[in-house]
Amino acid sequence: MKVGIVGATGRMGLELTKLISPSDYVGGISSDTTCDQIKAIVSASDILIDFSTPTAILKVAEIATEASRPIVSGTTGLSIAEHDQLRQYSRHAPLLIAENFSIGIQLIASFIKTCAKLLPNSDFSIIERHHRHKKDKPSGTALFLERAAEKSAQIVSLRVGEIFGEHVCTFSSNDEEITIAHRAFNRTIFARGALQCAEWLLDQPAGLYNMQDFLASKER
Ligand code: NAD
Repeated sequence: MKVGIVGATGRMGLELTKLISPSDYVGGISSDTTCDQIKAIVSASDILIDFSTPTAILKVAEIATEASRPIVSGTTGLSIAEHDQLRQYSRHAPLLIAENFSIGIQLIASFIKTCAKLLPNSDFSIIERHHRHKKDKPSGTALFLERAAEKSAQIVSLRVGEIFGEHVCTFSSNDEEITIAHRAFNRTIFARGALQCAEWLLDQPAGLYNMQDFLASKER
């Protein structure tokens, strides 16, 4: 699988590069990459994996539309309009968007959906902590978990130190409290998950996918 990385010089891009053999890595796109260079990387890639910014992935998707390469995108902080714009790409090629590539977060999403349904009178809160460089707030993962619960959450976001990612979800009622926490110990977990999704996405038809689609295919 020949891979092009969008956001190659960033924290996640560098982590991803470590997991890809040099012969499979066709090139990286970063803030100083020209349109012609982007076209060349897209055309040499079987798939693009993106950890960048909303502006960057939308620009790359526009340039890549003609070549219709599959894209796995982990970029967070997209507005609803930007998300809709990116989704248009899936009419041309397979596109998988995941706010968090750790399987643990996906398991929590299933569990909190059940909690929200069975504990309708409880208050749902999420406290998330990330490294001080993170641009978006609340995190894409906190918003993903809120969507998964189908119940609005009180979200507290802290940007401190070099924390890779921590989400503590709590359901509090008069009688009891359930707390479920997830802590990422490194960035490899996200990079590895994105690569696993990429291998799977290569065999899928054009369309929009998420991490749950990938995991469902593993359970079959
Ligand atoms: P970073 O700031 O370290 O890196 C950003 C990268 O994007 C850099 O390579 C930069 O050159 C590139 N870039 C910025 N503007 C660009 C432009 N206009 N054109 C082309 N490239 C441009 O960020 P990071 O910590 O690596 O995180 C990147 C994204 O991935 C963030 O949105 C973050 O929230 C997300 N993320 C997702 C997951 C997940 O599991 N889905 C995990 C970690 C981080």
